[in-house]
Amino acid sequence: MHLLPTADEVVGILRETGALRDGHFEYPSGLHSNEYLQIPLAMRYYQHARTLSVGLSRLLRANSEIRTMIPQLSVVAPATAGLPVAYGICEALRAHQVYWAEKNGDGLPLRFRQFLVQSPGENVVLVDDILRSGKELTELRALVEAGGAQVLGIAVIIYQPTPETQDFGSLPLFYLAKLEASYYSDAAACELCKRGVPLVKVWV
Ligand SMILES: [Zn+2]
Repeated sequence: MHLLPTADEVVGILRETGALRDGHFEYPSGLHSNEYLQIPLAMRYYQHARTLSVGLSRLLRANSEIRTMIPQLSVVAPATAGLPVAYGICEALRAHQVYWAEKNGDGLPLRFRQFLVQSPGENVVLVDDILRSGKELTELRALVEAGGAQVLGIAVIIYQPTPETQDFGSLPLFYLAKLEASYYSDAAACELCKRGVPLVKVWV
């Protein structure tokens, strides 16, 4: 495999590891879809994790603004699915540091560990395994910017937009593959429900 895997190679890894699944799924938001992705199933194999995060690091390095900042760059992720991606990218880029934000319970805000202090004007790339709704990355961006840091871009292994995906404006978005599933706003609108395809409720 090349240093930058093609979108087909990435999708192949996801299918082979059971991370990308075809069927009939209901998200916690109530959306129905014919496709579901759980990237940690691919990241459990270290060589695949490495292939994916090194590939993503190549895309970041190709951006001149980010390349210039690498020695001072912070790689920041939401826990937990973003962590292996963030560490893989930080290692491949030899970036300055990696840290993460987490939630201590449903409905609570994302926050950093106690005593973690950002430097004023710190340059940050936000990293996660997937961009789907974008809610968590939007919250992470606000948290990072509230600490005085500057977000240079967002990097995810897979961009899987839904009708609810949030807009990040002019912020550069880096991804290895884009997946476009079919989405239905609820059961009443769902073609798969009409055809009686067995439904699986997904946790996240
Ligand atoms: Zn359905």
